[in-house]
Amino acid sequence: MSDRLDKSVRWWPQATFDWVPSDQVARALAARVHANDLALTEPSRLAEALGIRLRRQVLSGGFQALLIPGVNPRFEIVCDPRASDMRSASFRVAHEIAHTTFYRWDERIPVRTRSASRAEEMFCDSFAVALIDLKEPRTAAS
Ligand SMILES: [Zn+2]
Repeated sequence: MSDRLDKSVRWWPQATFDWVPSDQVARALAARVHANDLALTEPSRLAEALGIRLRRQVLSGGFQALLIPGVNPRFEIVCDPRASDMRSASFRVAHEIAHTTFYRWDERIPVRTRSASRAEEMFCDSFAVALIDLKEPRTAAS
């Protein structure tokens, strides 16, 4: 583990996954966030805790959100403010945060542990759904 990482975020997996884990792991990761600090189930707070900068910018190419690795900050998440259909901004931020688990954080610029895949997208969706469920528990009636 790199000394450059603030010890407060060492509970977050950094380059742990060079394969795509199951949905169960995605849910367990959301539960770990929840157990660490209830407030971090708010995706923007989780991003802040992990040192990820959030930015709003109109995106081309059909993207609603992008994860951009860099030197400082280590990651930036860019959300298109126009894309309010289907997925909430919170969901999209949580999804992008999940992608960081497929990067080696201890490189100068984080690098992917594997190439992007549909399975990874599904893992990130599962994490985002689980995190938002913990943030806003669905009532039995709904
Ligand atoms: Zn994605």
